[in-house]
Amino acid sequence: MIEGLRDLAGIDHGSFMDYALEEARHAGERGDRPIGAVIIHGSKVIARSSSTYYTNKSSVHHAENTAIMGCSRYLKDHGPECVIYTTLEPCLMCLPTIVMANIRNIVFGLEDIYMRSREEMGGISWIGERIFNYIGGVRRAESIALVERYCTEKDRRTILEGIRQ
Ligand SMILES: [Zn+2]
Repeated sequence: MIEGLRDLAGIDHGSFMDYALEEARHAGERGDRPIGAVIIHGSKVIARSSSTYYTNKSSVHHAENTAIMGCSRYLKDHGPECVIYTTLEPCLMCLPTIVMANIRNIVFGLEDIYMRSREEMGGISWIGERIFNYIGGVRRAESIALVERYCTEKDRRTILEGIRQ
């Protein structure tokens, strides 16, 4: 059995998600997609980041991805005891990246109905057996409010309605 943190019962997910929401708001304020992520180990925040999709003109600079890049060395040793919080459910790129980065616990706010990555990829045993906890709906309303406030109409429809444009 893979070692690591399996019981998240004592963790106040809402308070860590608040950091991710703060990151998301910063992104929105600078004209980016309002999506944020934080990685924690115990009570320590290891990394926090947000989408720089527009700021860096990069389709792969998602919040989870850039948070991981900022602490991948740390995750090599401690990833299985960490939790990643993200305001929007990880996409088809970020979900395997999170697992590849050794993180086993994923908590998100708003579910992703655009890519439905968990549905699409959960059946891949290599990924499925490495995810200890996959929890959605934490501060979901706040995540939606940021999307409503800061997203372009096109991004809003993609995220909230799952419309492929
Ligand atoms: Zn992503």
